[in-house]
Amino acid sequence: MVLADGQHLPTDMLIVVTGVRPNNELAASAGIKLAANGHVVVDDHLATSVENIYAIGDVIETTSLITGLPTPSVLSSPANRQGHLLADILTGAPLTYNGFIGVSVVKIFDLTASCVGYTEQTLKAAGITDYETLFVTPFDHAFFYPNAQRLNIKLIFDKATGKIYGGQFVGHSGVDKRAAELSVAITGGLTVHDLPSMEFPYSPPYAASRDALNIVGYVALNKLNQTETVVNYSDLTQEERETGIFLDVREAGKPAYGTLRANLHVPLSELRDRLADIPKDRPVYILYRPGLAPYNATTILMGNGYQVVVVKSAEQGG
Ligand SMILES: Cc1cc2nc3c(=O)[nH]c(=O)nc-3n(C[C@H](O)[C@H](O)[C@H](O)COP(=O)(O)OP(=O)(O)OC[C@H]3O[C@@H](n4cnc5c(N)ncnc54)[C@H](O)[C@@H]3O)c2cc1C
Repeated sequence: MVLADGQHLPTDMLIVVTGVRPNNELAASAGIKLAANGHVVVDDHLATSVENIYAIGDVIETTSLITGLPTPSVLSSPANRQGHLLADILTGAPLTYNGFIGVSVVKIFDLTASCVGYTEQTLKAAGITDYETLFVTPFDHAFFYPNAQRLNIKLIFDKATGKIYGGQFVGHSGVDKRAAELSVAITGGLTVHDLPSMEFPYSPPYAASRDALNIVGYVALNKLNQTETVVNYSDLTQEERETGIFLDVREAGKPAYGTLRANLHVPLSELRDRLADIPKDRPVYILYRPGLAPYNATTILMGNGYQVVVVKSAEQGG
């Protein structure tokens, strides 16, 4: 690669990340209203501020289907469908543009990554902070069928209502399918309360009988109902850090996860038989790790009268 100053940089691969900027010269010269970010402002009929001039595609700023807030529309599917819709509108169909979600998918070698709607970064930039996130790693199909691999799924939703703000998916297969399902759920105005009820086609090579978005829904509802409380280590007081029971429930032979250190280790499989080892007079902080173990340990201890929270360290998002 040769830089503008003549410098040569040897490389085997070059990834160009340029961002997007609206080509708005024509619109600006026509006196059409532009948003601060330079995109052409349109209404729900895709009409600009100048009579009889309409705009579609990457150049426009439309509204988010999720929040109703202004958002640039910068992907191919919205651009194409806006073109179809505008032709219908101009020929008299009583239709409106409902808004942009933003659903993308990309292949990175053997991995697929997909993003639906808002990320935490774009949500904060839009001034929305009262959200909850979850991260789950279900299998992409039945675990007993060959080549099952973990999907990595992050969901962002409203703390009070369960409204779905967005999700991100990374995995080897079935990523686009789950992202598409989430997009359909958002389009239909479903919340996390609906995800456990969604029915997906199941057969071992393709899915699990409680499939990925069902699992996402169960975990989201646990968060909303505070069945499992998760705290950040950085939010604990000095006294809580010094007096709390920090319990590691990993099974023998499993590696530690994260930098938090336990002062008590009882594998989940022994927990019911070893309750006498765990003091009941102070909170028990179960060290976070991916999977079901912290949740199962929480329910066992809560059922036995313990005050339990799961604790995350800084590098785990806490
Ligand atoms: C390398 C690359 C890969 C992409 N891959 C994907 C993908 O996989 N999935 C996805 O969803 N999106 C993808 N996109 C984005 C996608 O291409 C755009 O969202 C989509 O093309 C937008 O459509 P549009 O009609 O708004 O703009 P465009 O497709 O850019 O069309 C605008 C047209 O207007 C013409 N034009 C501009 N100014 C004038 C003028 N003054 N007079 C006359 N004509 C003019 C341009 O020449 C152009 O032909 C990709 C973009 C790039 C660059």
